[in-house]
Amino acid sequence: MKIPHPDPTIGAALAQRLAAEGRVRPTGGLAIRHIDAGSCGGCELELRSVRAWQAGLAAYGIRFVDDPRTADILLVTGVATQGMAEPLRRTLAAMAGAKLVVVMGDCAVDGGVFKDSPAVLGGVARLIAVDLALTGCPPAPEQVINGLLAALAS
Ligand code: SF4
Repeated sequence: MKIPHPDPTIGAALAQRLAAEGRVRPTGGLAIRHIDAGSCGGCELELRSVRAWQAGLAAYGIRFVDDPRTADILLVTGVATQGMAEPLRRTLAAMAGAKLVVVMGDCAVDGGVFKDSPAVLGGVARLIAVDLALTGCPPAPEQVINGLLAALAS
């Protein structure tokens, strides 16, 4: 995998918007809780490549966790089905830290190719506030890493 070159303007814009809400980006590393809210599996394949970049993630203090109480970021993939509404809300409520919400993939952004289905809600933002959207079907691992680094204050 290529070494990421995060776009500093993404992080700066996120930091500015969070500051306006009295919030800050996490520092010193990121603990990520991933939830599949109705994915086709394509985004998870790319996420597997992200997670395989172990040395790089460790260098930035980025790790994936199962317990939402220890997570800084809720990373959501998938269309946000009706059935995933409550689990998403409960997971976010259980998070004690900075509670940033990052959506990965066009499905999580607005329903993507499934947006006209009555079974989907049309994106995660219909359920919970979203801080950062990583578009693409699916987004490339480098794009996901760059987005995660943008969510991490230096
Ligand atoms: S964005 Fe594309 S790859 Fe990701 S879950 Fe939707 S259809 Fe699958």
